[in-house]
Amino acid sequence: MGAVHSVHSASLSRASTIVSENPATGEAIGEVPDQPAEEVRAAIARAREAQRAWAAVPLAERCQRIERFAEVLMARADEVIELVVREAGKTPIEALATEVVVVADLTRYFCKHAPAVLAPEPIPLHLLKHRASYLHYVPRGVIGIIAPWNFPFSIPIGEVVMSLIAGNGVVLKPSEITPLIALKARELYLAAELPPDLFQVVTGRGAAGVALIDGGIDYCVFTGSVATGRKVAAACGERLIPCTLELGGKAPAVVCADADLDRAAQAIVWGGFANSGQVCASVERVYAVASIHDQLVDKIVAHARALRQGDAAVSEVDVGAMTWDRQVDNVERLVDAAVAHGAQVALGGKRSPGPGLFFQPTVLTSCRQDMDVMRKEIFGPVIPIMSVADEEEAIRHANDSHLGLLAYVFTRDRARGKALAERIAAGTVMINDVLHTYGCPETPWSGVKSSGIGRTHSAHGLRDLCETRHVNYDRIAIPREVWWYPYRNTTFQTALRVARLLFGKRFWKR
Ligand code: NAD
Repeated sequence: MGAVHSVHSASLSRASTIVSENPATGEAIGEVPDQPAEEVRAAIARAREAQRAWAAVPLAERCQRIERFAEVLMARADEVIELVVREAGKTPIEALATEVVVVADLTRYFCKHAPAVLAPEPIPLHLLKHRASYLHYVPRGVIGIIAPWNFPFSIPIGEVVMSLIAGNGVVLKPSEITPLIALKARELYLAAELPPDLFQVVTGRGAAGVALIDGGIDYCVFTGSVATGRKVAAACGERLIPCTLELGGKAPAVVCADADLDRAAQAIVWGGFANSGQVCASVERVYAVASIHDQLVDKIVAHARALRQGDAAVSEVDVGAMTWDRQVDNVERLVDAAVAHGAQVALGGKRSPGPGLFFQPTVLTSCRQDMDVMRKEIFGPVIPIMSVADEEEAIRHANDSHLGLLAYVFTRDRARGKALAERIAAGTVMINDVLHTYGCPETPWSGVKSSGIGRTHSAHGLRDLCETRHVNYDRIAIPREVWWYPYRNTTFQTALRVARLLFGKRFWKR
């Protein structure tokens, strides 16, 4: 195992504190408490109290006040970027683009559009014209957000901002691997002069997440692994708390014979190695049609070989550190097993010597669908490539997975691309591009199959953070409805005739 493995895992063995470490160096950079259940419950109670007043603030005013958070974030972006680099091992460009800008843009976007998205929605009734309905959106109360470590700022804070705009209070339980970034986010929130108790951060390991669900929240937004997601779903089910689950991915990239191979290769390299491959949307398997397979592999290897890897805090690099030592072990296991079963290492294939958590950007060829590297989430800088006879075989393999978060299709034929995309079971399919729709606040982020339930982002995601309530009212006042008491046989006969007229065989078809 070696010294590298002590990063993060050693610190997790201590009892009541969690030491956060720089994954590129192994140095301790801060310490947070592992908060017990009673502190989690107290945080929920404070958020609930503050939420009552917040829900009474008109939506437009809430949006106006939350915009201040984007201003503070951009003014203090350097602090966030520096911490993301040090605590998560990312490069500054990734920290800026995928953490800071994503949240600033999402904040501005929803502050502008939430009043329209959450406006009452009329439902004209097709039969009972003397009545009408509408939906209105009511804050749920306190949203519990449980977050992973791979996007420690943008994932939870995007969800925090949307929850607050919707009129909720929030208690966030960040990952124990990256707690300092969540605390920094709260510092910015306070600097934006938003109600202090409305947004709380509780730090801790899994037990703090259990306590959060147990502590009386009204909705849970969970992002993390499938295994934990199942436990969260069960705990929420037990308490009848609705939840959104954003879980693992195994995104396939289908490269058609007519693809622009230069673009496809660059996209796959970025999609496989950005954030050291620790992205739920990472390109996790490539299906290349045989006629272009060798050419594509050459281009992928050439682009990947040019990548510079290292501690992004001290030098200009393309690929930073991995964030969690167990994840490096996982990647090593999957690569070694693939090689033992016949995969060829076209590039990389090994963990880098310490200090720090680094696995070489790796390209594997001769992969087969039955290998774990093609079936299990890798969550590291590894691109396994498989040659397929044609697009039909590629689509069949793409769908042969228990996961369905993202998928990618590369082709020059836009119509064919859409037709293929629609046949892949994934929450999002991108054509000729990878990853970036997480940065589009207007598009939904969601998985099918074991990749999750519900969605974040988009108008749908914002409405999910509210209770959708239905009001039905009279447009025209009439003394009574025909179906009320008393029940008369004559009413029954008339109702039957009318019902047959309305729902039976159309008279022109008789
Ligand atoms: P994880 O499931 O180990 O942990 C996620 C969070 O759950 C952490 O805060 C953890 O402390 C907490 N937790 C652990 N046990 C819990 C329990 N029993 N009850 C409640 N909370 C508990 O996941 P991770 O390793 O932090 O994140 C990596 C995983 O997240 C990958 O599978 C990745 O694909 C997935 N992910 C998905 C998305 C998405 O949008 N679908 C985004 C990012 C990451």
